[in-house]
Amino acid sequence: MGFFTRDIKSMEDLFLHGLQDVYYAENQIVKSLPTMIEKATNRELASALRNHLRETENQVSRLEQAFERLGQDPAGTDCPAIDGLIKEADEVAGEVDDKRVLDAAVIGSAQAIEHYEISRYGTLIAWAEELGHENVVPLLNANLKEEKAADRKLNGLAEGKVNRRATGHRTAAQRPHEQEEDWWRKEKPQRKREREIGQRG
Ligand code: ZN
Ligand code: FE
Ligand code: FE
Ligand code: FE
Repeated sequence: MGFFTRDIKSMEDLFLHGLQDVYYAENQIVKSLPTMIEKATNRELASALRNHLRETENQVSRLEQAFERLGQDPAGTDCPAIDGLIKEADEVAGEVDDKRVLDAAVIGSAQAIEHYEISRYGTLIAWAEELGHENVVPLLNANLKEEKAADRKLNGLAEGKVNRRATGHRTAAQRPHEQEEDWWRKEKPQRKREREIGQRG
């Protein structure tokens, strides 16, 4: 990045800069995913993240192939956006006390990263097509598809289970001193009250 030298002179430079940006980002994600996997207590979440770590390593080599096809050496350039997203993920996780809430936090942070990647690949594919670099489009598309699938997977885990647990609607299995029936009996007045409050407004 050269604020003073203005090293991006053409659309071709801008495209290469974007490729270097996402190459740096993917490498940082490979480094940061193990920390997120460690923090996850939900087994499905941990395995989804482990799976995406393997995919991400493969994405790095697809990008290296893309550089090669363009006759360029693979190189990264600082991506302050991914550095910020990873830093924020660490900071938020460091402040969360409850393990179940931490799972919800990890998913939220991971999805912010997926959305950044989805945005970058979408733009790079459009630029590659416009510049006539059709030979790298399938590589970028393969990465984009994996980011979208990872995002969908995380969505499913959050809405299917993790968010409800994080909210405190625990299952009886996690509170062995209480019976399932008691859990429902205790939930009812709360729900009834919520309805009444809602009606008043
Ligand atoms: Zn630059
Ligand atoms: Fe990626
Ligand atoms: Fe960036
Ligand atoms: Fe990703």
